[in-house]
Amino acid sequence: MHSYNEQLLARALFDLTMRAKSGILTYACIWLILAFSYEINTNHPAFFIINSATIFLIFVSRVWHFLLLKKQPHNNVYKMSYWLELTILAAAAHWGTMTAWILYNDSLNDLQTVILIITPAIALGGACTLSISSKIRMLYPTLMFIPFIGILVYQADTQSLSLAAITSIGLVYIFTATKATHDDYWAAVTNHMVAEERAQLMEKLSTTDPLTQLKNRMYFDKKFEKEWLNCTNLKRPISLVMLDLDFFKKINDNYGHVFGDECLKAVASTISQIATRPTDCVARYGGEEFVILLPNTDDETTKMLALRMINAIASLVLNYQGEKISLTCSIGGSTITPQIKANQTSLLKAADSALYQAKDAGRNCYRSNTTHAIAEHS
Ligand code: GH3
Ligand code: MG
Ligand code: MG
Repeated sequence: MHSYNEQLLARALFDLTMRAKSGILTYACIWLILAFSYEINTNHPAFFIINSATIFLIFVSRVWHFLLLKKQPHNNVYKMSYWLELTILAAAAHWGTMTAWILYNDSLNDLQTVILIITPAIALGGACTLSISSKIRMLYPTLMFIPFIGILVYQADTQSLSLAAITSIGLVYIFTATKATHDDYWAAVTNHMVAEERAQLMEKLSTTDPLTQLKNRMYFDKKFEKEWLNCTNLKRPISLVMLDLDFFKKINDNYGHVFGDECLKAVASTISQIATRPTDCVARYGGEEFVILLPNTDDETTKMLALRMINAIASLVLNYQGEKISLTCSIGGSTITPQIKANQTSLLKAADSALYQAKDAGRNCYRSNTTHAIAEHS
């Protein structure tokens, strides 16, 4: 189970990766258009190879990261985030250095105007898109701008210095703009997760019995309907077991309701440890009555499980102020392979009447009503 923070981080990592995906393609496209329209590949082959190789390496590492994240979305989120941030910042540092080099090198002066338009646009677009990460929203435009602001200051003529000043103001503006998009993202994602958690809690509360923590009657009714349909379609047997504690009123009268509640919790835990298949459903049907739904289970297995429950409950020793108290229960069970038009209430009625038979037979025993249930609908 991942902590709340890790879940948030995994979500942010996924969103950041998706957003960064388009960015790296933009870099590659802009670079290739620039290179071929300004004939950099023929006029400046070394410059072309160095930049193409760097962009290609960053591209490959980003694709690798993306595939890894897709394969194992929750694995090692801290390491994955670190790696993604590193490749994004490497791309920014590369582009910033390349811009500075173009401005510094007079032989590339036909590229200077276009790069002065493109670089701030990429810096603003990238910083806003990737502002999920506060590190990236600050460092990404900084790494793009600082190298060429440095070159402009180094050139020290009035035009270069005023351009450096304008760019610096632009950088501060990017910081302010991305602060808003960063805060909006985190507010939205946090609210979303809180809402999801609340919905899960509400779902749990509405399907759980507060005393025993077993499923409640409402959940059982829905589950019963679903499993009944499944077993009808698959032509598989389905069993229902009703368990009622014997003379439980006396337990309450003699030892009080608080102790009675402790007994109910102990019984609930005991029977949950016996019907353990994922499709089994142990629910509190009401009062001191429990119901166990066993889809895909024949009457022999049902009997075996019911007898194990009887024995396990009879072996429970509860402590009331030093006095050892024991309990017994009676169980009625029924198994049916549902026919298309059969109604699931018949199984419930059959198990209930079997429970009465068990009570009549002296309690602390199991009775089944399987034949009756099948006959009703065959
Ligand atoms: P029998 O063997 O015939 O089932 O006898 P019984 O006394 O168990 O039968 P009955 O159904 O008449 O009594 C059930 C008792 O269960 C009555 C009620 O006080 C008690 N009970 C029902 N719900 C709770 C509960 O949530 N907590 C406690 N402590 N007792 C409960
Ligand atoms: Mg009872
Ligand atoms: Mg009862």
